[in-house]
Amino acid sequence: MTQKTLDKNSIQGIIEEMQRLYLKDHRPWIVGFSGGKDSTCVAQVVFHMLMELPHEKRNKVVHIISSNTLVESPLIDRRIGNSLSNMEKAAAEMNLPIIVKRLRPILDDTFWVNLIGRGYPSPNRWFRWCTDRLKIRPATRYILEQVKQNGEVIVLLGARKSESATRAQTLGKYEIPDFKLRRHTSIPGAFVYTPIEELNLMNVFAYLLQVPSPWGDNNRDLLTFYGKADGECPSVIDTTTSPCGRSRFGCWVCTVAVRDRAIEGLIEDGETWLKPLLEFRNWIKQIRDDPSSREEIRRSERRKKIISKRLGRDFKPEEHRGHKVLGPFTLETRHEILRRLLQTQQAVKERGLRLITVEELKAIETLWMYDEDDPCSMMNILRLSNYGELQETPVITRRLENEVYLQEICEQCKVPVQLIERLLTIEEDFSTLSKKRDVYSRLERVIEEHIYSEIRVRW
Ligand code: SF4
Repeated sequence: MTQKTLDKNSIQGIIEEMQRLYLKDHRPWIVGFSGGKDSTCVAQVVFHMLMELPHEKRNKVVHIISSNTLVESPLIDRRIGNSLSNMEKAAAEMNLPIIVKRLRPILDDTFWVNLIGRGYPSPNRWFRWCTDRLKIRPATRYILEQVKQNGEVIVLLGARKSESATRAQTLGKYEIPDFKLRRHTSIPGAFVYTPIEELNLMNVFAYLLQVPSPWGDNNRDLLTFYGKADGECPSVIDTTTSPCGRSRFGCWVCTVAVRDRAIEGLIEDGETWLKPLLEFRNWIKQIRDDPSSREEIRRSERRKKIISKRLGRDFKPEEHRGHKVLGPFTLETRHEILRRLLQTQQAVKERGLRLITVEELKAIETLWMYDEDDPCSMMNILRLSNYGELQETPVITRRLENEVYLQEICEQCKVPVQLIERLLTIEEDFSTLSKKRDVYSRLERVIEEHIYSEIRVRW
């Protein structure tokens, strides 16, 4: 390693500072790993720091966490998966106290459950609903669990001041003298340590090229993959972390940037099998702002509209930057998105990719029912898409065997069959979504919505 390049912020200096911090107390460490060069640099320094310590001094656990959004770009997903299993193996062989964990969103928070199930519009700069659900919440849950078990934890991130002026400012905030710890902005008991914050991009490159990966990865390959630019998707742990979605290496469905240059570049380099993914991504970006794909108003405004009408007042829909705020994707659009997603899955099935899970399909079906969808929609889409062929698991369908019987009872009791079907769906399927205790409020909401729609019809 050339000291000239790394100067006083040499990696050895960082390792020594890290060792002092490591030996100071028993607070476990949690390293955020995104597979990019900065977080690889931190993980590698942590490995070396532990390797240099005598066995009896390796007295606390280091967790290496990485988020799997379930919509990761396939090549990045494979790289990260390989790196994590190599790390796990190397740590076991060298007897290092390292735990490797891949975190994923809960079912209720996944991209497809929200985009296709709830009809959230594809994310953009102003409505980036996915980062919190796909990345921040899984990391927060994990950190909170460790805080619960250990009282306090230290989170290590690969943030660097030279990334941007804002980054430097954020890193300057909340600093606690001695070892440069900062309080985590939202998790009490968690402290943040950014060991490579003073390094610049060239320092990171120099280190990764000159010092081989302790878990056997090819760093040269990593740098070629990411290119010589600050463009990786960072490990996001809270809202102050650099935002994802603007980088060239995020989720394959990401519609925040105008173009997905990473996938475009890979296709140009011969990975032509990625074309169906890119086309699907471009299409969900294109329909995002098309009023015919969206409800006229947001869910929360439906009630206001009915009340205004009842009182004979004009209803003024919400506006943002001079434009009317549109509601969620319509049910028809959501059906079409699912149809096209299944076609895309069909097109890449040779690669063994599973773009959507059976659990997500069940959750989506339930959410469609909340929005008064035809109970057969999901079944029809899956049948037409030959979904059964794509999965080992059997085709899922709603349980409609009792439909005739239900119809009779509803007629006798003079209650609308659609309402009862929706209530039964919630009761049956709730366990696949949010916590059980929310079931009553959900049932109440459906009854309320039904009453409002009845009122709307009569007036
Ligand atoms: S990369 Fe894009 S789609 Fe993925 S979480 Fe970030 S903003 Fe959302």
